[in-house]
Amino acid sequence: MKVLVVKNAGFCFGVKRAIRIASEAARSRHGPVFTLGPLIHNPQVVRKLAKEGVVAVPSLDDMTKGTMVVRSHGLEPGVIEKARARGMEIVDATCPNVKNAQRYAARLAREGYLTAVVGEASHPEVQGILGHAGASSLVVAEERDVTCLEPREAIGVIAQTTLSQEYFSRIVSLMVEKTRELVVYNTICGWTASIQEATREVAEKAGVMVVVGGRNSANTTRLARICRRVGRPTYHIETVSELKTEWFASADSVGVTAGASTPEGLVKDVLSGLERIAEMAYDGGSH
Ligand code: SF4
Repeated sequence: MKVLVVKNAGFCFGVKRAIRIASEAARSRHGPVFTLGPLIHNPQVVRKLAKEGVVAVPSLDDMTKGTMVVRSHGLEPGVIEKARARGMEIVDATCPNVKNAQRYAARLAREGYLTAVVGEASHPEVQGILGHAGASSLVVAEERDVTCLEPREAIGVIAQTTLSQEYFSRIVSLMVEKTRELVVYNTICGWTASIQEATREVAEKAGVMVVVGGRNSANTTRLARICRRVGRPTYHIETVSELKTEWFASADSVGVTAGASTPEGLVKDVLSGLERIAEMAYDGGSH
């Protein structure tokens, strides 16, 4: 069985940067270091960071005085202000690509546009961007959200950074019918666009796809969706222990990809696991 690995699968630059900033904060700051929610959507990495002293908590109320590291997804300005008011030090690890989307949202709000953020309503990145867009904003989670929209004088559109290009273009083409003035900021990040394209290419060649990453990771889940759309049997796993030999019984090749929050080590473990499965199949076939 041939194993095809998607180039650059795993940690993106924004996630590497956030982990580095959080680890440095744990080493250099006095007092506890917190993140509001897990630093990245990968439970294995979050456990490792907790050992280093970076504690993920679900709410500001769970933070005692100390430092709050803003995750790569960013935060609403109001939440940062509240943390400061409680005496927390702020270390900002927002990914520069997300920061751009936040800046565009603030600009659209200042210039009087209705700001539409295309993405998942409950995702922290989308919540953070909305916080910068102010009251005149909404989330477009599906096409119906656009078709139901009353026409407006001026609309600005921003993408969640991990959105698929094809979906964003579809939403934008629907939005044109709702206004005479449309401003579009394509804030899909370069890493996302290239990994999605590379994953699609590998899925078209492979018999089976394995997608490695947190089940709570939006961008990993989206990669799995892309593979399924290509028509490949696709397995989304978090660690090598979940691999099952029978998935590959009739496959002559398997493609492997991973989300932005998946560490290289986990991908390597899965590749070693697949090698073992391939050897077993070979041994079985040769008897
Ligand atoms: S996926 Fe893109 S936007 Fe998100 S953290 Fe990584 S580099 Fe930044």
